[in-house]
Amino acid sequence: MNMPDLGGGMPLRILFVEDVPTDAELTIDELREDGIACEVCRVDTEASYLEALDAFGPDIVLSDLGLPAFNGYRALQILRERDALMPFVFVSGTMGEEVAVEALRQGATDYILKHNTVRLAAAVRRAVHEAEEQRARKHAEDELIRAQRFESLALLAGGLSHDLRNLLQPLLLAADTLNDYADDARLARLATLVRGCGQRGLDMVSSMLSFARGARRTEQVRVDTLFQALGLLLQGSVPRTVTLHVDEATGLGFEGNHTELQQCLLNLSLNAMQAMPEGGHLTVGARACVLAQDFFCADESAVPGEYVCLTVADTGIGMTPDVRDHLFQPFFTTKENGTGLGLVSCLRIIDSHGGVMRVASTPGAGTRFELYLPICAVGAVAETPGATAPRGRGERVLVVEEEAAQLSLLTGVLDGSGYDVHASQSGAEALQSLQSDGLPQLVVMDADLSLLTGVRTLAALLAQDYLGAVLLLARPDAPPDLEGLPPVRHLAVLVKPIEVDALLRATRRALDAVL
Ligand code: ADP
Ligand code: MG
Repeated sequence: MNMPDLGGGMPLRILFVEDVPTDAELTIDELREDGIACEVCRVDTEASYLEALDAFGPDIVLSDLGLPAFNGYRALQILRERDALMPFVFVSGTMGEEVAVEALRQGATDYILKHNTVRLAAAVRRAVHEAEEQRARKHAEDELIRAQRFESLALLAGGLSHDLRNLLQPLLLAADTLNDYADDARLARLATLVRGCGQRGLDMVSSMLSFARGARRTEQVRVDTLFQALGLLLQGSVPRTVTLHVDEATGLGFEGNHTELQQCLLNLSLNAMQAMPEGGHLTVGARACVLAQDFFCADESAVPGEYVCLTVADTGIGMTPDVRDHLFQPFFTTKENGTGLGLVSCLRIIDSHGGVMRVASTPGAGTRFELYLPICAVGAVAETPGATAPRGRGERVLVVEEEAAQLSLLTGVLDGSGYDVHASQSGAEALQSLQSDGLPQLVVMDADLSLLTGVRTLAALLAQDYLGAVLLLARPDAPPDLEGLPPVRHLAVLVKPIEVDALLRATRRALDAVL
């Protein structure tokens, strides 16, 4: 908020409601003599008053009480309907005490008698100062409310992520199981589709979680992989009128979080497409650059050095300076169905990567977002080995999992890979099955069992002389507390969501360790 500096910087803008020019001039002269620099707009009708409120943009309204063609109370009423905080001071030659009280009751900031030079400047100063303070307070309150809304959104996102993950996990396992019938081309396609969707859902869930928590995993991010994935994601959504160009083979990389950055690029690309209702060009590119100290603003903590600059540019509607100013505010949107959260989360993600964001935009010509991310060599990124997962040789495996869908998928996968699988739906049931079926060579158990927890079931198993291996399946945010547990010959914790490949490898490794 730009407030005039009454010490002589920016002049005070005074809207004067007064029909006698000389009266207004006298009053203004008195203010100037007292050191208040001001610009004045005098009006004496309702129409010119209304116009001046918009066009002149006053800091304060001074008003006579009765005018031939207008009325001071009416002027006050009009102002208060639009702005509760702007100072309004009556300056009148004929003001009795009752009139003054009434004026204040109706929302006037102060009243003064014409030619009362002593009070005039002091009253104007105080009115402007108080309005400034009130505005600052209101601004702080608004910010607080916004922050609280944001906070509750993060909480909501955190809760939702857990539920969604439990929902998606079986989908992934099911897709992997389907893949075993890959000689049927239709089934194989279906499996790829289901896995793709499930994985995308999980990625979104984890970025939602990391967004909510503000924590994240770091890995080597390759720009080319990032762009390929973006191309795939956008494939279905780019309208025919928009041509998409994505840079290829940039060979660039940096340290960061692939999922989050993908989300960032996706957000920016969707915004770009929405800004081109009539069509245009969407260009996504990358280049390396060196940033010097003077590139950064005072409130940015990034350090000078080598950066990767990712750009998302469109030839769309562009932004007005007003939109530019509010772009990164939570919930700011100019769209009917917008959330106003896309850019906030982009900024947060780039910030957490130690990077900075820049926007250039021309109304009617287009917008260009630049994401600067600190660079890092990526020579060492290992490709995932494509070897087939190891199989079982009829070893006895006990699977303990509460959720029926998960249990059936886990047992299905292990059974299909050559293990002799037994299933239990609770810790108690698992212990009981030992009596009837004897000891297994491996126990695969969910750490989050509700009554008898995974760890307690494990303790009971060990008490019954269990000597085999153990795989605990745990949520990433709730590692099992293994303290006080007697030593286990081979114990591994697998973090959910469990991938079939990882499960089979861990199973083989665990069994090899104890057999
Ligand atoms: P949302 O897309 O839900 O409105 P965002 O945070 O993604 O929320 O964007 C906020 C606002 O910024 C948009 O409503 C729009 O006014 C403006 N904006 C963002 N990207 C562009 C763009 N590429 N061109 C023009 N305006 C944009
Ligand atoms: Mg958006």
